Amino acid sequence: PQLANQIAAGEVVERPASVVKELLENSLDAGARSISLEVEQGGVRLIRLRDDGGGIHKDDLPLALSRHATSKIAALEDLEAVMSLGFRGEALASISSVSRLTLTSRPPDQSEAWSVSVEGRDMAPTLAPAAHPPGSTVEVRDLFFNTPARRKFLRTEKTELNHLEEVVRRLALSRFDVSFTLAHNARTLYQLRPAMSELERERRLSLLLGQPFIEHALVVDMAAEASGLRLHGWITQPTHSRSQADQQYFFVNGRIIKDKVVSHAVRQAYQDVLFNGRHPAFVLYLELDPTLVDVNVHPTKHEVRFRESRLVHDFIYRSLHRVIAQMTP
Ligand code: ADP
Ligand code: MG
Repeated sequence: PQLANQIAAGEVVERPASVVKELLENSLDAGARSISLEVEQGGVRLIRLRDDGGGIHKDDLPLALSRHATSKIAALEDLEAVMSLGFRGEALASISSVSRLTLTSRPPDQSEAWSVSVEGRDMAPTLAPAAHPPGSTVEVRDLFFNTPARRKFLRTEKTELNHLEEVVRRLALSRFDVSFTLAHNARTLYQLRPAMSELERERRLSLLLGQPFIEHALVVDMAAEASGLRLHGWITQPTHSRSQADQQYFFVNGRIIKDKVVSHAVRQAYQDVLFNGRHPAFVLYLELDPTLVDVNVHPTKHEVRFRESRLVHDFIYRSLHRVIAQMTP
């Protein structure tokens, strides 16, 4: 099983950013409202995530690190409306097979915290009492210490940190109600408080994407009653001068996606008003009936399939065309 874990680890755990993605998703699944992340050396030396979520009971702690132990799929139908972000029950097992992992947790209704540690091949987790407020901390040290071939594929500290920051950025854009902090080598990079008002949301956007983004952003909020579609968020005016292809975030029912239908509709709406060949920056959220969209269950792809892609395309196109045309002289 250890070998199987390491093979699976290759699929899920490509670099520190993929570890962070899995850990953040677990925290959000556990209902965390506050997540703090400390990393060292681009996450290779240390990733430590602390949350205030529902925690894991002592008896379930060793189980959380074993393969295919998930608490999240009660019945197969659950897969249809993918409510929780992670659901395959292999992330922690995979990560722990290629690192030194400690999981410490205390459910809010328990008075004691417990901790399990595993180190690469040594698969017998040791359980020990610990001190911890309600919630969980996962500590991942020395990623790929026992898989030199994988370690060789890691890039510079800065590159790994960039990937990692992008993961945090995406999740921070998908959950304005959750607070996030990120520190690298003891330096705070982000400190994002819960953002409920428009002003607070714009503040978070400017911290994540820079002040120019928000200065040039048009607010989008369109709904089609009949089809139950809603599109909201921000798209920049063409006066926004920086290279923008890297600031394009599209969420479908809260999950970031990449999709040809969506990209085409956005680009077309922009071009049909502005004719300037530029690419907009945007952070957009599409909400629709979950049964009208298939979200690919592969952990690293972000694909969707719309049941009625024509309808979705036209709705996005019309909504954005209207917003951009209104605001552009
Ligand atoms: P999955 O998320 O697919 O269920 P994981 O390997 O990522 O599998 O996690 C295994 C289990 O550990 C989860 O199902 C969950 O019960 C528990 N778990 C992991 N991280 C946390 C967390 N931060 N808070 C509470 N429970 C957690
Ligand atoms: Mg998970």
